[in-house]
Amino acid sequence: KVSFCWLRRDLRLDDQAALYYALRAGIPVVPVFVFDTHILDDLEDKQDRRVTFIHEVLEEMQQQLIKKGSSLDIYYGTPEAAFIHWTSKYNVAAVYANHDYEPYARQRDEAIGRQLTAKGTSFHTYKDQVILEKNEVLKDNGQPYTIFTPYSKRWYDTLTFFHLKPYPCNKYTDHLYQQPPVKIPSLKEMGFTTGEKHFPSKALQAALIKHYDETRDFPALDGTSRLGIHLRFGTVSIRALMQQAMQLNATFAKELIWREFYQMILWHFPHVVGNAFKREYDKIIWRNNEEEFERWCKGQTGYPIVDAGMRELNVTGYMHNRVRMITASFLTKHLLIDWRWGEAYFAAKLLDYDLAANNGGWQWAAGSGCDAAPYFRVFNPTLQTQKFDKDLKYIRKWVPEFEGVEYVKPVVLHEVARKRALEVYGKALRKA
Ligand code: FAD
Repeated sequence: KVSFCWLRRDLRLDDQAALYYALRAGIPVVPVFVFDTHILDDLEDKQDRRVTFIHEVLEEMQQQLIKKGSSLDIYYGTPEAAFIHWTSKYNVAAVYANHDYEPYARQRDEAIGRQLTAKGTSFHTYKDQVILEKNEVLKDNGQPYTIFTPYSKRWYDTLTFFHLKPYPCNKYTDHLYQQPPVKIPSLKEMGFTTGEKHFPSKALQAALIKHYDETRDFPALDGTSRLGIHLRFGTVSIRALMQQAMQLNATFAKELIWREFYQMILWHFPHVVGNAFKREYDKIIWRNNEEEFERWCKGQTGYPIVDAGMRELNVTGYMHNRVRMITASFLTKHLLIDWRWGEAYFAAKLLDYDLAANNGGWQWAAGSGCDAAPYFRVFNPTLQTQKFDKDLKYIRKWVPEFEGVEYVKPVVLHEVARKRALEVYGKALRKA
């Protein structure tokens, strides 16, 4: 008899809730992972950096497991097929996994849970990727918060020492199932090739984070943690990180709470996937000009700060938060292009892509989100540049031609675009 720890967005072997509970239960544990074709088949870029990242992380985990006489078991296909395969290969008594709040994952886990329990295998799930989830932070009337500031206050009021306590998996590694290494499918076998190999480090740079509140808004500086991808795939523990964050810088801790806030919103309001959080914003009649969208994607709008951001994204898979706000506002307000187009573009490109945070960020910029900027707030790219890139260092790096004659003319004039946005938004919202 064995049990499984089914890894998903929790790719680490210590301080991992599901793994801890599986190991503690005493039945030998096989860590398993599915390269899910429901997800992979939708990726157009066969050099997807995130697939490379996951593959690399799994290889490292495999090395650690081999040292302990154990092995990962990795399946390429659908989760349904994976469990049919595995339950014929092993005598699986129980499967342990961590909660995932995305609609696809919820439906997947329900289906797999049914499939397993029908065959007598129990399915146990735990909170791991956030500190407080689902209904743990609610208003006095039992309803979920939709505004960040009171949410974060209640979040702090709810937090106890217990929530940040690590799960000491390392104490129980002799409960790992012993077997020779099971071969990991190569990227090539899955139809992918190796993308970018240089990923941000998962070590938190304490000296930098101490000054996070002063540096985080300036895209020319290395002023943020770059931990997005590690939080996305669980290669760092949010509990350990939050402990450090609270000691180093309150503003940094607050950003981690924004992450929890959007996960909570996605859990309670799954309609935000594909729809405006505030339904009346779905009445906006977007211009959706494809040529302009193409210029935005390529970083050819004629607004240097917007173009710098889009080029940084296209080349590196990263964009600074300040510039994410500017480029998203530009697409939705200046160009009146549906935020869902921008959301999908970011989803395809961002190394740290996370459905909850990306959707939250886009709806914030478009004005349709739960705690969004009011619709009449239209970022002025020139003023944003003066405030946050006044020496033009970031712009010069990504748009070196911006002062020359060869630089493209603005796709639309700011004042014209601002007026147009107010009219179109105003009309839609008055009607609602
Ligand atoms: P740091 O500033 O060092 O912050 C640390 C961590 O806190 C981040 O890695 C992230 O996990 C979390 N965090 C910080 N800010 C936010 C925020 N506003 N909302 C939620 N979590 C936050 N973040 C993503 O993780 N994935 C996305 O797909 C994503 N898409 C975005 C789209 C738009 C339009 C906008 C405006 C923001 C988006 N963000 C997203 C939030 C934010 O821009 C990134 O988390 C941040 O830039 C990542 O860089 P970092 O790791 O250096 O962050």
